[in-house]
Amino acid sequence: MLSVNAIDAFYGETQALFDASIEVGSGESVALLGANGAGKTTMLRSILGLTPARSGTISFDGKDITRTPTHEIARAGIGWVPDDRRIFPTLKVKTNLSLGKKKTRFRAWTESDCFALFSALEYLLDRDCENLSGGEMQMVAISRALMGGPGLILLDEPSQGLAPKLVQDVLNAIERLKAEGMSVLVVEQNALSVLAVTDRVYVLDKGQIVFSGPSKQLLDDA
Ligand code: ATP
Repeated sequence: MLSVNAIDAFYGETQALFDASIEVGSGESVALLGANGAGKTTMLRSILGLTPARSGTISFDGKDITRTPTHEIARAGIGWVPDDRRIFPTLKVKTNLSLGKKKTRFRAWTESDCFALFSALEYLLDRDCENLSGGEMQMVAISRALMGGPGLILLDEPSQGLAPKLVQDVLNAIERLKAEGMSVLVVEQNALSVLAVTDRVYVLDKGQIVFSGPSKQLLDDA
């Protein structure tokens, strides 16, 4: 579904990714781990065309998207849940959700599909987003991305700042998305939790991929 081949990415003269390659298969969930500043968010930004790869190639769903503008990448079916969630705070939950709607060749989730993923969401629809807790905002951010009909969803540190019970809800959601046949690429620092719910893992260190393998292999390695 996604193939990132030997990309280099820069912020000005600062190189953030070096010859980095990752793949996400159809219906596969993949974790991208690494310390602060390792380049995890940059990998997502390069896939989305926000920090375009200076060399190397990126393809999605059989098409080269290395130089494709971000709005076209979104319409091709890559959904993004950024680490700061980017919810519109003065709008209601239902408005934030409907702003995510668009047509892609993949299945677009309805509000009811999202309620099945996060049961609390149904009772929040008329709330202004500025009054939501961090966990509630995360539910809105994930649901809004799903309503955009992604074939691949990119989750940037979805458990960041959440209470342990809510972290579990997010991890359960990742498992459910995979069960629905969606491809998932999840960036996390919470390594143990995310390894338990993903198929494969890549580890980034100082902009380079230093490990790739089954999540279970890394989970079992003290
Ligand atoms: P974290 O877990 O802390 O979010 P990360 O693994 O996502 O880290 P990135 O945010 O991708 O790491 O950053 C990779 C490198 O690029 C870091 O050295 C960072 O300082 C640098 N960097 C990121 N954004 C910018 C920017 N806008 N301008 C300049 N350098 C940047």
